[in-house]
Amino acid sequence: MEKVLTGSCQCGAVTFSVEAPALLTYACFCHSCQKRTGSAFSMGLIVPTDALRIAGEVTAWSRVSNQGITNTRYSCARCGNIIYGIGDASPELAKLQAGLLDDTSGVEPEVYLWNCYRQPWVTLPARARPFDTQPDDPMELLQAAREYRERR
Ligand SMILES: [Zn+2]
Ligand SMILES: [Zn+2]
Repeated sequence: MEKVLTGSCQCGAVTFSVEAPALLTYACFCHSCQKRTGSAFSMGLIVPTDALRIAGEVTAWSRVSNQGITNTRYSCARCGNIIYGIGDASPELAKLQAGLLDDTSGVEPEVYLWNCYRQPWVTLPARARPFDTQPDDPMELLQAAREYRERR
């Protein structure tokens, strides 16, 4: 994923680009992600916050996670699509919603979080080593993504 990533919300009022490669792609099975997506899991790209360029009006909403981290989500002010989120423990990293990319054909999770909430019909690639919960240290996620790529 060396090219500039671009995407938009469902209504098109918010567009974005990422001026750096994504650090990793994750899938999260936690119940909070199931709630906010209305689906079985979420998929996100972790990108450097200072490389994320947003155009259009967003609204912010914050919640405190189980680990005591305040996560703020930014959504399109018109259609409500969540665009990205930032946790106060690592504000230099933004979690961008993978499904909003203009080209989703290359999206593949490399890190699987909160496997304890995964529905049994969701099967993972053989090389996946899912986390039961979620590591506190983002470096552990980067390491897990690297190992996933190496098992290819
Ligand atoms: Zn929108
Ligand atoms: Zn989650």
